[in-house]
Amino acid sequence: MALETVPKDLRHLRACLLCSLVKTIDQFEYDGCDNCESYLQMKGNREMVYECTSSSFDGYGPTHSYCTKCNFKPGVYAVTVTGRLPPGVVRELKSRGVIYKSRDTAVKT
Ligand SMILES: [Zn+2]
Repeated sequence: MALETVPKDLRHLRACLLCSLVKTIDQFEYDGCDNCESYLQMKGNREMVYECTSSSFDGYGPTHSYCTKCNFKPGVYAVTVTGRLPPGVVRELKSRGVIYKSRDTAVKT
């Protein structure tokens, strides 16, 4: 388990809307998302961090409960994340062959 991906500060935690990785807003801004940086480019872009992560999420654990076969980095992952990626980002993902599945259980896709 990579300790540097575990949030040090329990305030300002946000979950990535694409992979559900939980980090602080500062960690997302400084390092981007460990899994999605090549798609979301949040590094140094706080606006993208706000758009592509959500402060509203439920239940987190050290493993990704949705995608055990994916090569996601070790870290803390939310079980459900409320919110959706902006349509423009979803389109960009689609053009790269990434199918975005919302973790927002309130939204039926
Ligand atoms: Zn991510």
